[in-house]
This record gives sequence, structure tokens and C-alpha cells, in this order.
Amino acid sequence: MRESSTYGQHHHPHDELSEIQHLQNRNTNERLTNKYLSLCDSISEGFCVFQFVTDGNLDPVDCIFKEVNPAFERHTGLPDPVGRSLKEVVPAEYRHWMKYVRKLSSGSPVKFLDFSKKLGKWFEGTVFVFGEPEEHSIAIIFSDVTEKKKVEDELMESKKRYQSLIETNIDFIWEMDKYGRYNYCSPQIEKLWGFKPEDVIGKSTFDFLPQEEKERARELFKSAVSSPGDFSQFESTSYNRKGEIVYVETSGTPFFDNSGELLGFRGISRDITLRKKAEQDYMKSQLALKSSESKFRSIVETANEGICVVDEKLTIRYINGKLSEITGYSPDEVTGKNASEFLGKYDRFRLNRILVRINNNGKDDFKIMIVKKDGSCVTVLASTALIYDENGRKEGYMGMITDISARIAIDKDLKKTKKKLEIALNNGKIGTWEWTIRTNVVIWDTRMEEMFNLKPRTFEGTFSAFESRVHEEDLPHVRNAIREALLNGKPYEVVYRTIPVNGKSHYISSKALVMFSKKGNPVSLSGVAFDITDMKEGAENVMIKLNEELLRSNSDLRQFAAVASHDLQEPLRMIASYTQLLQQKYKDKLDKDAIDYINYAVGGSKRMYEMINALLAYSRVNSHGNNFESTDMNDVLEKVKDNLKLIIKEKDAVILNEKLPVLFADKNQMIQLLQNLIENSIKFCHESPRIHISSELVETNHVFSVEDNGIGIEPQYFEKIFRIFQRLHTPEHYKGAGIGLPVCRRIIERHSGKIWVKSEPGKGSTFFFYLPEENGGFLNFPLEI
Ligand code: ADP
Repeated sequence: MRESSTYGQHHHPHDELSEIQHLQNRNTNERLTNKYLSLCDSISEGFCVFQFVTDGNLDPVDCIFKEVNPAFERHTGLPDPVGRSLKEVVPAEYRHWMKYVRKLSSGSPVKFLDFSKKLGKWFEGTVFVFGEPEEHSIAIIFSDVTEKKKVEDELMESKKRYQSLIETNIDFIWEMDKYGRYNYCSPQIEKLWGFKPEDVIGKSTFDFLPQEEKERARELFKSAVSSPGDFSQFESTSYNRKGEIVYVETSGTPFFDNSGELLGFRGISRDITLRKKAEQDYMKSQLALKSSESKFRSIVETANEGICVVDEKLTIRYINGKLSEITGYSPDEVTGKNASEFLGKYDRFRLNRILVRINNNGKDDFKIMIVKKDGSCVTVLASTALIYDENGRKEGYMGMITDISARIAIDKDLKKTKKKLEIALNNGKIGTWEWTIRTNVVIWDTRMEEMFNLKPRTFEGTFSAFESRVHEEDLPHVRNAIREALLNGKPYEVVYRTIPVNGKSHYISSKALVMFSKKGNPVSLSGVAFDITDMKEGAENVMIKLNEELLRSNSDLRQFAAVASHDLQEPLRMIASYTQLLQQKYKDKLDKDAIDYINYAVGGSKRMYEMINALLAYSRVNSHGNNFESTDMNDVLEKVKDNLKLIIKEKDAVILNEKLPVLFADKNQMIQLLQNLIENSIKFCHESPRIHISSELVETNHVFSVEDNGIGIEPQYFEKIFRIFQRLHTPEHYKGAGIGLPVCRRIIERHSGKIWVKSEPGKGSTFFFYLPEENGGFLNFPLEI
């Protein structure tokens, strides 16, 4: 503390007594001064002494700093101001501070709490008169309370906030007596629960609690009293005015009178219905999450695909059962290891590129080779995506792993099969096509186009484009086949010709199946087509060749027949006539043996003559046949009876018949046919022959039967008897050349019919034959002898 010149001015007059007094006083004074000085130096408060200056009215107008203690500068931040006036030091606000000096006029100290704008600080202190009034000395003891003020302000602020808080919707404040009856309730209760304070004051809090909550609340109050203390955030339900359940959080404290007697409780209640609901929702969602997590887990565990989770450094965190099945490693064996360890060599190099793609796109599908535990490799398809933690940070990768080695093998097989099919289709000149009905799109492969003489990929692809390329004569039956296929689901199978290109048509054999919708409507027709031109031409060539051969052999036969009839007959006739001559002329001169020999020679040449004639007759069936005409078989039978009247009479044969139909046939041949059969029936009969002739329409054929009561035929000869010169008996027993039935068969065949026999030896035979009712086209038959 600096001493100003003011010190030492306090002197009193000296006398003897007063000298002692003075000395005493001086001692006391010194002691006091020392005490004062050390006090001033050591106190933490700022301290200063002023001498104020007055104006004409003796009102203080300024102050001169006389003394300051070391704390002064600490509190004010002002350098030593001693000797200077307040006006000089804080010109802007010296007037402001002078008001406290003026207030001192009453003599009693003045307290202040004030803010210095210049210094930016709050000061709290006391101004008091220092020394005698006439000295115009005052002192200020003060401290910088800026920090304290701040805290106080904050407190104030929070008080205010608290105030506004209790006036908001969230809380209401209450006080209740020791029985739980409301003494007070802040008006917010109305906003919250619909009650006005007067609705609840005087009523028990228990009246507003649901039954099950009353007991809990009672316990709460009891324990707050028995071991006095606050209760806080007690959650309960309560009824609002509408009778709805609301959630309340209550904090409170019991209060007592001076003697410790419980007076009641004070507290605050807060509506937490919204929070509660949110919590419940959260719990629900948490539960849902849990269950969906467990669901997720069970899906992942049992998935039919391998699943793998790796972190950013590709350290394996998880693999599921399927992946461990694919790789042969158990989850424990791989967890914690780097995924790249399990990849094929080449794929390890590719890995970085793959990761870049995943990181850029968030996901990527790639094929990769995994080395299994047993050292073998498996190709898998990995669909991999980035995964993130709950804060959205990249956490690693998750991959769905599908073993595609089987698929690759199948693909290979499929490729092979496709190739084979392709080869087959190509070599077999098989085209494939499909017609989608709704869109009327017809798809042809290039082989189809080739068959239709089109350049590859020039077919227009519609149904009418197809039809326009079918030979117009064949179009009707193509359309018909398609209609049948679409309407009745019949397989489409048709042969048609293409329109001629350079005068040449292709023969196409096409087969297809109809695809039906679930409802049964035809959707499409898809099939194959073969170019059968070569086959057809080949077959035709064969036919022509065969025909030629037949014609040649026919003409050979014809020549033979001519030879037989003329050239052979001539020498035969000579043999016959000379042996007859020999017989007649020398029959008396020759011995019996010679005559027998000559007779044999005559018989033989006669027989040969007959046979040659039979052969001629046989060959004439075709070569000398007449045109077909309407032939009444009743007339034919009459003619036959007439021809055979001698033998009929001789053998006393009876011929009966049903009404016979009219046929379109060669009339003469019909006579020949019936005559041969009836003649045989009469001939091969021991008793008087009974013959029955009838006809029956079976489907479109008239089946004739000639039934007799003759000797019958053993079944093993049913076929043989129709062959040329085949006879069952020697000529001595039954005359004949063995040509009758072969001629019959030839006639029947010329009429596109059939002949056969049924017989029982000893009982009789029945010969059947039929001629088709319509045998049109037969006339054009190219083969003739
Ligand atoms: P053929 O009458 O000149 O002997 P066919 O060709 O007419 O020659 O008959 C061949 C053979 O069939 C006859 O020899 C005979 O054995 C047998 N045959 C034909 N018709 C009859 C019939 N109605 N009853 C029994 N046998 C018959």
C-alpha cells in the first residue's frame, strides 16, 4: 500500500499529558496503521480510498484516487490510478459511479452491485466514509463478481425456464396433504388431463388412479415418509377427464412441520403418455426386430445358398451351413481367416478388381473358384453386396454363394446336345418352325428358308407369307390339317409341295404339336419340317424302275405266252399228230408194249397242250380283259348255269342262289370266275352236288360265297390250291389242269378284291370272294400283261 501525502496529516496538539497520550496514541496509531496496511495488502477484495471534490453546492462531482490495494488491479484491470481522478480513469461512466458517493451523504455505508460497461465487469461492494467527514475521504471495498453474477444469471435463467416449464403442457405442480388430498394444483393440469384445478383440489389423488395403481402409490408415499426422502420418476397410470388412461411420471417429496409431523407431499407430475406410447412402439419394434433377426438367422442358417460375411479386410466373420457344405470347411475352421486364402490362384489376382466394382456399385455378381478342404476346386457364383453397420459405416461384404459346377456341367452337356441336334437338323435337312397364333408371328430357321428357296433371314414371318409359298393344290389340305390340329388337338402331320421355283417344287413333310394355354386355347403350333424331295424322287425312281422291270418281265411273259401259243404249239401239234398217226397206222403191227408207249406219248402231248392253253388263259386274264361295266351278278349266274347245263344235268347238281348285287366289273371275267368255282364244286363231289350262292355287304365290300357239299379240302392246302398247276389229285381221279383257281384269283385281284376258302374235308367247301363296291382308279392301273 502506497502512502499518500494525506497520511501524517492527522496530528493532534501536544502537551505533557498529551505528549504521553500522544506517544501512546502514536504507538496505538502505528499499531493500527500497520494492522490496516497488512489487512489492505492481504484482503482479496479490491480496496481504494478517494478524496471527493465538491462543486459550489458542496455536492461531490469527482473523486481523486488516494490509495489502492494490490487486489484493486486484479479486480478492475486498471493500472495504478493513485493521484488521478475518477473522471480521468473512467470518463464514460464516472457519473454513473458518483451516484454512490452522493448517496453516502446520509453517512451510512452504501452497498452496490453494478456493471461497468467500460470494464465489462460486474462489481459488488460497499462505499463508506473513511476518516472524518471533513476530510472528504471515502473508501470502497469491492470485488469482481462477474463470474458469480454469470452463475446467478444462469440460475435465474434456469429458474425462469423452470417457471416456463411448469407453465407448459408437460408438467403440473401439486401439493397434497398427508392423506393424498390435493391442496394445490397448477392450471396445466387442464391442458393435460382436462381437469380444472378446482376439479381436483380437495379430492384424493387415489380417486384418479386405476385400482391396480392405488396400492403402488400408497406404498410409495409410505416409504417416502418412513425413510424421508424424495421419490422421483415414479411411473403410473391415471385417468383423464374423459376416463382415458394416461401415463404419468411423478416426482415429489414429503414435507413436515417444525416438530417433524408429516404435513403432506409436494411434487410435479408429468404426462408421459406420448413417450410411453413411443416406448411401447419401440419395444414392439424391438421385439419385431428380435423375431425378424431370429427369422433372418434361421433363413440364413438353413438357406439353400451359401452365405458368407467378411469384414473390410476380407476376414471371414461368418459362413452358414450350406457354404460349409460346399467348401467342406466347418465355420470354426474358416472364421477369422482371410477369404482370399480359399480362392483359386487366378481369382486371387482378380479379387482387387472385383472389390473395386463392389465398392463402386454397392454390389456385384461374379464367378469365382473356391478351393475346397479336400483340395479340389468348385466354381461358384457369388452375388456380393456391401454391408453397413447401424451407423451407416461400411462394415464389410456379404456374399450369396451358389455352387454352379453342376450347372456348368449341364451347360456343357446342353451345348454338346445342342450341337448334336444342330448337326442332326442340318444333315437331316430338318427345319424347325413356330407359329404364335395371337401375334401371328411365324419363326423359321434358315433350313426352313432353304427348303422354300429363300435366302437366309428373308422370310417375312407371318402365316400368310407361309401360305403364299405352299403349292396352291396342296394348300387346302394344309389348311385342313391346321384346323384339325387347332380345333381337336390332333397332331399336325402333312406333306405338301412348295410353290415351284424354276419349275421345281420341294416336297415338305411337316409335323407339329399345338401348345394350349391353361384355359385350353391354342397358343402356338411348333414343329419340324423335312425336305423329302429326294426321298420322294428316290421312291418315284424306284417305282419307275420297278415298273420298267415289271413291264419288261411282263413282256417277257407275253413273249413266252406267244411262244407257248404259237411256236410251242406248232411242234407239239406235230408230235401229237405224228404219234396219233403212228397209233392209227401201226396199231396191228406193233406189240402191246409199243402201243402203250405210243399211247403215253399221245396222252402227254395232249396234257401239254392243255397246260399251254391253261397258261394262255391265265395270261389273258389281264391282257385280254375288258373294261369294267355295270354287271348284274344274277345275269352272270344264269349265263354260267347255261354254260354248264350238260354237266349239271349229268351230275344232277342243284344250284340255289340268293339275290345277287350289281357290280362294276368285267362281265366276261365275272362269268369265268363263277363258272370255275361252280364247275369245281360239281367236279369235286361224290354225291349229287348241292351248291348255294349268296352275297353279303360287309362294310363297303360285297362278299360272295359259293358253298358246296363236296369232298372238302385239308386246311394245309387252302393256299396252295390258288397257285398255278397245283392240284391235290391225279388227273385219273379228277380231270383238270390246275389253272381254274389261279385264274379266279387273278380276276379277283384285277378287280382289287380278294378270294379265300373255308372247308372241312368230307363235308364241303365254301369259296369266298369280294369285290369292293367302288373300285375306281383300278382302270388306270399301269400294269398289264
Ligand atoms: P383243277 O380243277 O383243274 O384241278 P383248280 O385250280 O380248279 O384245278 O383246282 C385246284 C385243286 O383244288 C383241285 O385239283 C382240287 O383238288 C381242289 N379243289 C378245287 N375246287 C374244289 C372243291 N369245290 N372241292 C374240293 N376240292 C376242290
